[in-house]
Amino acid sequence: MSRVVYVNGRFRPHRNAMVHVEDRGYQLADGVYEVCEVRDGRLVDQRRHTERLLRSLAELRIPLPLPLAALDVVLHETVRRNRVTDGLVYVQVTRGVARRDHGFPPAGTRPSLVVSARRTDREQNERLAAAGVAVVTLAETRWARVDIKSISLLPNVLAKQAAREQGAREAWFVDRNGYVTEGASSNAWIVTGAGAVVTRPVGPDILRGISREVVKDALAAEGLTFEERPFTVAEALQAREAFLTAASQIVMPVVRIDGRPIGGGRPGPVAAALRRSFHAHAELS
Ligand code: PLP
Repeated sequence: MSRVVYVNGRFRPHRNAMVHVEDRGYQLADGVYEVCEVRDGRLVDQRRHTERLLRSLAELRIPLPLPLAALDVVLHETVRRNRVTDGLVYVQVTRGVARRDHGFPPAGTRPSLVVSARRTDREQNERLAAAGVAVVTLAETRWARVDIKSISLLPNVLAKQAAREQGAREAWFVDRNGYVTEGASSNAWIVTGAGAVVTRPVGPDILRGISREVVKDALAAEGLTFEERPFTVAEALQAREAFLTAASQIVMPVVRIDGRPIGGGRPGPVAAALRRSFHAHAELS
């Protein structure tokens, strides 16, 4: 089965799914994106991902180039045509194709829309979660509006590569006061010695993760103590557990931070329970 990608109104074979070289996404990283989990052929939390997409677009004053109902059809059709049962669907909207100029293009320039889907290996992800992952910490170098899910990801790219070169799977950014902001592509969490589950409050300095919202609901349902406050790397190193959340990872236990074991170097019960119950609190469509 060959992959197809939706590009500006048409499904194209993956090998020649292209946008113009003067697309502002390519030239200026002038666009936004979303990544939504696909599970059993259904989209996980599509409504909240779409709401966040609309918010990111509004913040950057990029119009959505098709009606919402049409976007819904395109998302499901992309998943169906690629026969994705478990995987991810990716949506990108840029300010469109125009002669290169930093200011906005002429009124009427049509934003570009790309939607692709790919499979992931559910069993492999479960094995990864059973072992837990390592993270490294590094200084926050991103811009001051990372609540916008912009395709401008250079600091995230460099952070992820630095993590990989140190044998880790994720990098946690640390602000100038020593507090963890979030991961290069995930939100960061710890479980304190007293059993409180802690994550940084939303604001311009982190992305409001949809998985983060789902985990908040799961914590309330399971009667666990939730603290929305910043935590330092030192506190994380003393934590009983740590984990990260993202649509592509669900809830992923963190067992090592900067080479030091967390919770004895094994995934903890809170992260494992949240991972198990996650989809009971998510919306499938
Ligand atoms: N923070 C960043 C920087 C991300 O890139 C992501 C996901 O890609 C997240 C957090 C988690 O967001 P979500 O749970 O919506 O996938």
